[in-house]
Amino acid sequence: MRLVKKDQAGASFELPPLPYPMEALAPRISRETLQFHYGKHHKAYVDKLNQLVQGSGQQDATLEEIIRSATGALFNNAAQAWNHSFYWQSMAPAGTTSAPGGELAKAIESTFGSQENLRQLFRKHATEKFGSGWTWLARTRDGLLVVRNTNDADTPLRTGDTPLLTCDVWEHAYYIDHRNDRAAYVDAFWSVANWRFAEENFRT
Ligand code: FE
Repeated sequence: MRLVKKDQAGASFELPPLPYPMEALAPRISRETLQFHYGKHHKAYVDKLNQLVQGSGQQDATLEEIIRSATGALFNNAAQAWNHSFYWQSMAPAGTTSAPGGELAKAIESTFGSQENLRQLFRKHATEKFGSGWTWLARTRDGLLVVRNTNDADTPLRTGDTPLLTCDVWEHAYYIDHRNDRAAYVDAFWSVANWRFAEENFRT
């Protein structure tokens, strides 16, 4: 999935536009949080990525290719640029994406027993994740649905799994709205989770 694209000259990666207005997720995820999280944090990862790509020998690579092969700071900034783009798509204004449906709903039922079981498992992973990272609903290469945490910038793209939905559990994702109450943030995330996006990823 090509979420972060090069500019027309092919010289640098562009910060993708947010898929909704800054206030669209409020009050669950506030405008101020998005102003900082998207406008400052995500932008900084993309800017740093563009600096690091220069002279790396990977100027012509896609972001996904860089993520699969890079190490150190180049990997960290490339993966964070991609993960955040995926995270914005993983949310939508409350009430617009309701619950999982279609084949994904069937897979959730057969894997976890119910959508409520998945919610509890995801919440447990996201709240118990020690330190910075991400909680993912993903499909493994064997076709199994899993809930997994990754550390720091790490992403399922590295292991060949297909991410369906992600929740950013770095403190910068929730400190403005919820201070240290990560569980309240994870519940807010769940209430705006974009199940149409997850279904689309599940079909690919
Ligand atoms: Fe973040």
